[in-house]
Amino acid sequence: MSTRVYPAQVDVAIVGSGPAGATYARILSERASSATIAMFEVGPTVSDPPGAHVKNIADADERAHAQRRSEGPHAREDDDRVGGIVKSAQRRARPGTYLLESGYQADGEDGLPVAAFSSNVGGMAAHWTGACPRPNDSERIGFLDETGELDELLSEGERLLGVTTDAFDASPYAGIVRERLAAVEDAHRDADERVQRMPLAVHRRDDGPLVWSGSDVVLGDITRGNPNFTLFDESLVTRVLVEDGRAAGVVVTDVRTGERRDVRARFVVVAADALRTPQLLWASGIRPDALGRYLNDQAQIVFAVRMRDFTPVVDADGVPQTGLSEYTGVTWVPFTDDMPFHGQVMQLDASPVKLADDDPAAPGSIVGLGLFCAKDLQASDRVAFSDSDVDGYGMPAMQLHYTLSDRDHATIDRAKAEIVRLGKAIGDPLDDRPFVMPLGASLHYQGTVRMGLADDGASVCSPDSEVWGAPGLFVAGNGVIPTATACNPTLTGVALAVRGARHIADEITADLASV
Ligand SMILES: Cc1cc2nc3c(=O)[nH]c(=O)nc-3n(C[C@H](O)[C@H](O)[C@H](O)COP(=O)(O)OP(=O)(O)OC[C@H]3O[C@@H](n4cnc5c(N)ncnc54)[C@H](O)[C@@H]3O)c2cc1C
Repeated sequence: MSTRVYPAQVDVAIVGSGPAGATYARILSERASSATIAMFEVGPTVSDPPGAHVKNIADADERAHAQRRSEGPHAREDDDRVGGIVKSAQRRARPGTYLLESGYQADGEDGLPVAAFSSNVGGMAAHWTGACPRPNDSERIGFLDETGELDELLSEGERLLGVTTDAFDASPYAGIVRERLAAVEDAHRDADERVQRMPLAVHRRDDGPLVWSGSDVVLGDITRGNPNFTLFDESLVTRVLVEDGRAAGVVVTDVRTGERRDVRARFVVVAADALRTPQLLWASGIRPDALGRYLNDQAQIVFAVRMRDFTPVVDADGVPQTGLSEYTGVTWVPFTDDMPFHGQVMQLDASPVKLADDDPAAPGSIVGLGLFCAKDLQASDRVAFSDSDVDGYGMPAMQLHYTLSDRDHATIDRAKAEIVRLGKAIGDPLDDRPFVMPLGASLHYQGTVRMGLADDGASVCSPDSEVWGAPGLFVAGNGVIPTATACNPTLTGVALAVRGARHIADEITADLASV
């Protein structure tokens, strides 16, 4: 799929190959197959098919190599990996990600000390956990709910991401975890808000192994087989071209050769994550008032317990079985306005955060709980960009401004109490107290190019994701989400991208019909 010859002109230029960018390519391939599409990704291709989750790489060394190659402009093979237990406030990146080097905390502010990125074909979704809950209550986007669209868009997002709830149904432990949590939680919840299996972007192959979805699944065979679609890896977009007030293309640099080229396009989609999407708009002189503002991350509280009355799964010789991923599942405690946290509970090997060493005598007995908190939205929480300094790719350097409000502190305190209560329902705590992860650890940055109903200075784009005052320019990803979600945001980001992609497809097909 990769080639180095950039086209002079396409119908749609997509910046970024994570699930948001991949959604545009897929919907356009399905609905406007004659449209020429070029997708530009600054990172390398690290998996096959391009964008596949690195967990699907069976060989551990190959997987580690793929992770390291995803770790940005200064990726190194010999980096200190996150191997130990994550219970300190150290600035460490998770495999496949790399930290914002500077500008993560302004004087006197909380900042996002572990704000991180992935730079590879597939973006962060080549490394993610795949939890795809639907937003609930105040997490939902009111103006799309009123028209009844939101659930249809979320269903479409689930289709594209390959979301299932039964991949771990053989797990002997997940059911017990669910029962114990349900016993202390469900009585005061509506049916669809009760403790349940986490919807996950993972499926089991007919011949057995689990397959984790990445952008490869979002792209699907239809995009890979679309002769009008081309993916260009190691290609940095440095500028969106605007002519007569309308998006007209992109300026792209081949990272391998340094060669720069203008690629003209009728539509430009910037899906470059919630921090680099506003960066590219800013670098292009497109600077609506809300650009970079309302930045929100989900404070994450974690806690580990040893399951009570645990019976290990043993093989025919009575030896406890390992290979936990086949035996674990992820349990979801949905966000509600009354219990304003998103709960994710899983045996340790499934957890992206290593909370404790597992018990070799009883593998699977240690359960990690995570509660994610919705942020109190503030326009002052923002990513700003420098006129003079640049980052490792030569793009405008970032400065994050981020402060927890009194309400945020109260939410975090309540989450700490709730997580202990939930943990004790499952088993015996390993620690006295829960641990608050350094801010930025959720990797769920949102709001920086948020959607709104009107161009009123509090949003960057319309409900179709088209940037106010820049027709033909679309933004995509978690940055578009206007609400403060506590749940994992990728499904919502993809759902919003579906709407924008359909809009472009409709315009292209309408033009063709009128010719
Ligand atoms: C360990 C881990 C666990 C996670 N678990 C979950 C989970 O369970 N559920 C969930 O919802 N989310 C999870 N996430 C977050 C999830 O992966 C992201 O929400 C999702 O990938 C965002 O998709 P995106 O397409 O908007 O951005 P990304 O996936 O970040 O992709 C953006 C791409 O744009 C490229 N890019 C940036 N700037 C440029 C430029 N100027 N030119 C060209 N290319 C550019 C980047 O290199 C990147 O590849 C997790 C992430 C990690 C790392």
